[in-house]
Amino acid sequence: MHRTPNPRTTLHALPPIGIGTPEVESLTSYIARLAHSHSMTAQKLTDWVLDHFGEEVCAKYAWHQRSLSGASDQSELWASRLAELTGVENLDRLTLSPWQHLVGTPGLAPKSDRWCPCCLAEDREEGREPYLRLAWDVAPVTVCSKHRVELVSTCPHCERSNVRNRASIVVPGYCTHCGGFLGDAQAEDATPERLWIARTVGQMLAKAPQVSEEGRLPLIETVIERMACGRMTQFASRYGFSKSGVSHWLNNGGLPNLKAWLTIGLHGGIGLDRLFAGEVEDWVMPIDPPQLSIDLGSSPRAGIVSRELDWEAIRAELRKMLLTLTPISISEAAQQLGVGRKHLYLRANAEARALAERHSRYRAAQGEQSRQKLQARIAEILDERLSDGYAGISARDVWEALDEDTRKAPHVFSHISEIMRSHLT
Ligand SMILES: [Zn+2]
Ligand SMILES: [Zn+2]
Repeated sequence: MHRTPNPRTTLHALPPIGIGTPEVESLTSYIARLAHSHSMTAQKLTDWVLDHFGEEVCAKYAWHQRSLSGASDQSELWASRLAELTGVENLDRLTLSPWQHLVGTPGLAPKSDRWCPCCLAEDREEGREPYLRLAWDVAPVTVCSKHRVELVSTCPHCERSNVRNRASIVVPGYCTHCGGFLGDAQAEDATPERLWIARTVGQMLAKAPQVSEEGRLPLIETVIERMACGRMTQFASRYGFSKSGVSHWLNNGGLPNLKAWLTIGLHGGIGLDRLFAGEVEDWVMPIDPPQLSIDLGSSPRAGIVSRELDWEAIRAELRKMLLTLTPISISEAAQQLGVGRKHLYLRANAEARALAERHSRYRAAQGEQSRQKLQARIAEILDERLSDGYAGISARDVWEALDEDTRKAPHVFSHISEIMRSHLT
């Protein structure tokens, strides 16, 4: 393990629960717990975060209405903002945003809040803080694969729905309306089909996808190659897809939704974790239909671009950048490394923050230096004019006497006026 200077964090570095497991926490849950650790309401915390990043805070917009755990740029942005403020990495793993270039959003978000009462009860029995699982926010998941029961959506005490986290104060596991423990609910037994879906999605959530945006089309082509010898029409009719839908994936950048991927996984006998990792080389269909005995020719995997980045190497590069003579900004670093700024905060948090802090100190010092230079130059100009016998001189005259670069300095006129005032009185 390496250590780098970690600048003090603005918010508590609260560890997220269950990253890398099917029971990973949702970002909604994380924000509720983070707010609690600061003795704030979740609403106050999210408003504060928005304000901190210079975004407008809309009083009518409740925090839980935001897409926090979903598959969107919004959820990715929230994860990176919180990573920046807490110094905790990988918070995008508490959302579906890592899959947003692979999985279409229709049918992805559930219509009401669900939970597994057994998970919550177990958290409490084992002395852990109850938390909300990301899997509960994935609509096709309707059961808990661990406890083999259906998810529930009504409070066992007040019988209301949507009482899991839709309030400004949220204690995960407790009803936002009556305060009753949501783990007290009774749950029905799960069916094998539903259990398979929950297990498959759980495995997907446990592993960040590695197929990039560019790798999606080759992956879909591989799927059709393996499952229908590359024949689109056959693929569509055999597995119950519309032909236009499949054509949209192939020709117009369309994304299969999660149900479609699950259908592929079920019939193809392959986990979504493996598909999205691009691990399709050894993929063998469970029962070989006769058509598949035909030689597939060239490797169907060719062209799948893995987006697995070597973060150890990137971190090493960032640490080198911490030693450059002229401090560089996080945006410059991102550009040099070909990695997004958000991802630097998410995956190499300590280094990114150290770099940002070093650059902002440098900027401040640089500003002070150029201010002093400007001050000296203005005093010089004023002295020249006064010694030439000019009594009156305007800020505009001073500005005109400056060289071109100095004229462009920020707030140059207010500096000139301020210096003139102190110099002429
Ligand atoms: Zn459970
Ligand atoms: Zn209730």
